[in-house]
Amino acid sequence: MNKRRISLPVQILMALILGIAVGLVCFFTGMADFTTSYLKPFGTIFVNLLKFIVVPVVLLSMIDGIVSMDDMKKVGSVGVKTMAYFLVTTAVACVIGLIFANIFNSAGLFPTLSLEEGAVWDKPTTANFMDTLIGIFPSNMWDAFVRADMLQVIVIALFLGGAILAAGEKGHLCRDMVSSANEVINRLMEFIISLSPIGVFTMMAWVVATQGAEILGHLALVLLCAYLGYAVHALLVYSLSARAFAGMNPIRFFQGASAAMIFAFTSTSSAATLPVSKECAAELGADDDIASFVLPLGATVNMDGTAIYQCVATVFLATCAGVHLSMGQMATIVVTATLASIGTAGVSGAGMIMLAMVLTAMGIDVNLIMIIYGVDRLFDMGRTCLNVTGDIACSVCVTKWERDKAEKSAGAAK
Ligand code: ASP
Repeated sequence: MNKRRISLPVQILMALILGIAVGLVCFFTGMADFTTSYLKPFGTIFVNLLKFIVVPVVLLSMIDGIVSMDDMKKVGSVGVKTMAYFLVTTAVACVIGLIFANIFNSAGLFPTLSLEEGAVWDKPTTANFMDTLIGIFPSNMWDAFVRADMLQVIVIALFLGGAILAAGEKGHLCRDMVSSANEVINRLMEFIISLSPIGVFTMMAWVVATQGAEILGHLALVLLCAYLGYAVHALLVYSLSARAFAGMNPIRFFQGASAAMIFAFTSTSSAATLPVSKECAAELGADDDIASFVLPLGATVNMDGTAIYQCVATVFLATCAGVHLSMGQMATIVVTATLASIGTAGVSGAGMIMLAMVLTAMGIDVNLIMIIYGVDRLFDMGRTCLNVTGDIACSVCVTKWERDKAEKSAGAAK
């Protein structure tokens, strides 16, 4: 058991390096089709397994987290702190994204691209705020599970967890059932995670083999811009919050979070990375009940990387379209990108769909998304890595805040 724990991140890292090497060989020898036909299917099977486990994991771990906090006050206190951390860091992420995008833009580094002939973007239906609000309350519980609508699943978990607590003595049977089911699902999850090096290797080889040429193309600059934003946000915001709020050495923080970061980078899904994030948070000393609450919530609503990507992409596409954005419009981007990132599901490619919402709000042609469509996965790898790191950082900080609070009230009671 211990042996596996220690070796899994190393296995993932080796799979990552091997995947890149094989992908490069296939790319340069023109064998990209080989990776699509024979390697990617194994990655797809692995991702399917993760998707299949994700609804029960979120539902059960959140209910279990709420129930194990044992009192509604603590749920409220953790919830408020978590949401405050998420909102502030996401808004900061937007500002960082905009700063980099504007530096690149004013240096003339964003090339003027045009839509490919005949490229068509299926414009997703964009909803207004009230529709979004209504949409998170399920009218049918099973439907929410079937569609894996994570915001609705979270609302269901909050209601059920709260109701179990409110039922007191009589809710004990439900409480035990949830914790037993949670244990079983965790075992299944451990098994699926043990297969992750296979998923990482096959997906990485496929991405590099099929998209390598694009990296070398003119989109490299906008990718570089987004990645600079990701890196600065991680180094600035997460290092600072680990140090200032959790009293933790930032290097220790990133070491502890590295397995989830690598996994997120290759799986491009915060939801799928959830099991690994949980292990990392535990290894960094986050309380189990807090991590069980914060991480599933974060994998669904906390997307700092996605926010940076949406800001950079919006400025880039606006430049492509010849639109000059004013300061007021930049402020609107911060608000809409924050909301769009909250609404982004923790699955591969979801951030690009929500980018349509930001572009619409800014009056920029949604068809322009086609320009970056081909390399979205490369953006997605970095943004998911950042999204997951933010969730882990939050669980560590909230744990510290709750411990301090408990210490203070214990001190006051003496
Ligand atoms: N793939 C991202 C995630 O799962 C969401 C996105 O596409 O931005 O966190």
